[in-house]
Amino acid sequence: MSRLRGTRFGAQGRPVTGRLAPTPSGYLHLGNARSFLLAWLWARHEGGHVIMRVEDIDRPRCKHELREAALEDLAWLGLGWDEGPRAGDPPGEYDQHTRFELYRQGLNELIEGGHAYPCVCSRKDIEKASSAPHGEEGAVYPGTCRDRWDSWDQAKQESGVEPAWRFRWEGDFENFHDECYGTVGLRPAGFGDFVLWRRDDLPSYQLAVTVDDALQGVTQVLRGRDLLTSTARQLALYRALGLVAPEHWAHVPFIQDAKGRRMAKRDGDFALARLRESGVAPERVIGMLAFSAGLMERPGLMTPAELVGEFRPDRLGGEDFVVTEEHLAWLHGK
Ligand code: GLU
Repeated sequence: MSRLRGTRFGAQGRPVTGRLAPTPSGYLHLGNARSFLLAWLWARHEGGHVIMRVEDIDRPRCKHELREAALEDLAWLGLGWDEGPRAGDPPGEYDQHTRFELYRQGLNELIEGGHAYPCVCSRKDIEKASSAPHGEEGAVYPGTCRDRWDSWDQAKQESGVEPAWRFRWEGDFENFHDECYGTVGLRPAGFGDFVLWRRDDLPSYQLAVTVDDALQGVTQVLRGRDLLTSTARQLALYRALGLVAPEHWAHVPFIQDAKGRRMAKRDGDFALARLRESGVAPERVIGMLAFSAGLMERPGLMTPAELVGEFRPDRLGGEDFVVTEEHLAWLHGK
C-alpha cells in the first residue's frame, strides 16, 4: 500500500489514520472548516494519513452538488486526503450511501448478539413518555419497547408501523479520554437506548460511523463538541460488535457568530463556497481559523501544510470562538 509510505504506526500497531467526514446536506461553513483543519493537522502532526468519507446516509437531505462543493472546498483550503473520492479510489467506495450492506451486516450481528430490539415509538411518544428532563439532545428514550416484542415482524403487525431498531445500551459508565475534555464518564441511563436503524429504513449515524471508522482503520477522531456524547454510544457499539475502536478522541469547540449562535448551515455568509467564489484567498481562511484555534497570535496568511509544525494537541480545547465583523473584514482583505 504505497499510500501508507511514511505513515507512522500507533500503539495498537495500526497506521495512524485520521478522517474528514463531511455531511453534504448543506454548504460547508467556517465552523466545519475549523474542525476539518484541526482533524487534518492532528493526523499530519502524528505522521498519519487522512481518509475522506462522505457522510450521506440521509439521502433525502444530501445532494450531489453539495458533495461536490464540499470536496472542492476542502481541496481549495489545502486539506488533501490520501484515501477517498478523487484520491484514485473506486468511485463511491467512500460515500456512505453505497455502504448500506455493511451497516446492515453490523445491525444483524447486533440483533444476533441480543444487543438490538425493535421499537415502534415515534418522537412524540417518547416526548410524552419520558419523565426525565429534556436536555440538548431531546427526550431520553424511556425503554418502552425494550422487552415488549418477540420479533420485528410481531412489532410491525401489532403496531401497524414500520419499527426501528434500537441498541440495548447496558453498563454503568462509558469512560474515555478526550484531548479537550480530559477524562469523560457518561452514564448510558442518562441518554437512553439509541436508534441503530431508522423507521424510514436508513442506518443511523451512530451505526454507520462506527462500522466505517472500524473498517477504514481510523485511529484518531476529531470532531465538534456536540458529538462528545456520541463517542460514548460508539464505544459501546465497538464493544458489542467486537471491533477495534479509535485510540484517540478530540471534541473541539465551535465557532459562533457575533450574536453568540453556533455557526450553522443556514448562514450563507460563512459558507466556504461563497467565500471561494467571491475571491477570498484560502490562505486567509486558514490563517483566521488557525488564529481562532490559538495556533497563531494574529490572523495571517497560512497554508495547512505550514501549520503542521505549529500544531499542539494540548491546545485544542477552550472556549468557542466568536467571529466578529473585524474578522470577516480581514477575511475579505479589507
Ligand atoms: N458528518 C458529521 C458532520 O459533518 C461528522 C461526524 C463525525 O465526525 O463523526 O458533522
